[in-house]
Amino acid sequence: MTAAALKLPLAPAAPLSLEARAETLNREAQDLAPREIVAATLDEFRGRIALVSSFGAESAALLHLVASVDPSTPVLFIDTEKHFVQTNAYREELTRLLGLVNVLPIRPDEADLSRTDPRGDLWKRDNDACCALRKVRPLRAALNGYDAWITGRKRIHGSLRSFLPLVETAPPHIKINPLARWSADDLDEYMTAHGLPAHPLVENGFSSIGCWPCTAPTAPGDNARAGRWRGLAKTECGIHRL
Ligand code: SF4
Repeated sequence: MTAAALKLPLAPAAPLSLEARAETLNREAQDLAPREIVAATLDEFRGRIALVSSFGAESAALLHLVASVDPSTPVLFIDTEKHFVQTNAYREELTRLLGLVNVLPIRPDEADLSRTDPRGDLWKRDNDACCALRKVRPLRAALNGYDAWITGRKRIHGSLRSFLPLVETAPPHIKINPLARWSADDLDEYMTAHGLPAHPLVENGFSSIGCWPCTAPTAPGDNARAGRWRGLAKTECGIHRL
């Protein structure tokens, strides 16, 4: 099957529901490599699709794949204002290196911020509320202009991601996970083959990188995301429930 095969019929008898469209795309994506999935979905949702990237430890490969197909693809970066300085520097480095021309930082609403977290320490008291303020609500607003978004999630992350499909619904959007099937070795091989720089904190033991208050280094053998909200039951920020 080729990437072109991912195109839906031009004149269906009736519009497909969101679920049926996702099911069709997911079925047809099974035979495609990640770059073909990216190419096909950028074409399928032309002008109505964005990549959401944290510019974290595993982000460079997907950013490279997307840039190799269309460097003008919108890249939504959720700027929680709690990122490590190294993440902001890495974002600038990758943007320049990959020739990305449409990286769009998304920030919390100012009025919401002053009302909900005037001292900037909500994460200490209620990390779900902090993620809702700094990640979920800003992304929900930013995605208003799109029909679909691409994520870098992988089944190897475990927990809720263990059975991640390549294409799924997140009403009212379709969500594409081109790297869902990749192993840690696949990721390393891709980074090496394309000479992609690692996030500067990887050498300090950080295998998954989010906001500084909620990210810790991991030990060898830990799940990559074990350092996120360490010691808490929380494993997801909530954007993947959108
Ligand atoms: S990861 Fe932590 S600091 Fe970042 S938005 Fe969530 S609770 Fe707040």
